[in-house]
Amino acid sequence: MLTAPVRMARATAVDFAHAQAGWIAARLKRLPERRPFADGADVPLFGTPHRIRHRTDARGTVWREANEIHVAGRPEHLPRRLKDWLTAELRERLVPLVQAKAAQVERPVRRITVRDTRSRWGSCAPDGRMSFSWRLVFAPPEVLDYLVAHEVAHLVHHNHSTRFWALARELCEGPIEAPQAWLKAHGETLLQYGG
Ligand SMILES: [Zn+2]
Repeated sequence: MLTAPVRMARATAVDFAHAQAGWIAARLKRLPERRPFADGADVPLFGTPHRIRHRTDARGTVWREANEIHVAGRPEHLPRRLKDWLTAELRERLVPLVQAKAAQVERPVRRITVRDTRSRWGSCAPDGRMSFSWRLVFAPPEVLDYLVAHEVAHLVHHNHSTRFWALARELCEGPIEAPQAWLKAHGETLLQYGG
């Protein structure tokens, strides 16, 4: 009597492992080429291409000049330095956006974290803590706006019900279809940059 459930559990575990392996293989195949941060490489800053310029003649910082991002300091520090700067750029745009939308639904936001998540672009915990991928700094503004609207709508509805989607639409600057389609078609390209 005991063996049947054990056997079943084992079969389920094996099926699961197979399903996972297939999923991982499919994902790896689909994974776009890497575009490391380096002098002369292009990165989109909120959807607009910018060329990376390593400045050996300057010290210390990172700054933007027209459609170029200048990074000073030693070449081996360039990727880290640029990532930190991009993360700060995202925060600067993201935080007021989250706060404005959260004010619209009159819900408090406990904390906004920007981190290196690859599995999802954003998340919202029931206690009001929100987290976003730093890679959204590469996405067009309307995509960022949609993702913020989506997570803020989760402050009210902890599901993907009809009421949730109605609120997400209301919180979004434009129609939600275009940014959703963009994410489906180009979302994975956001993983290319910076390795
Ligand atoms: Zn959601």
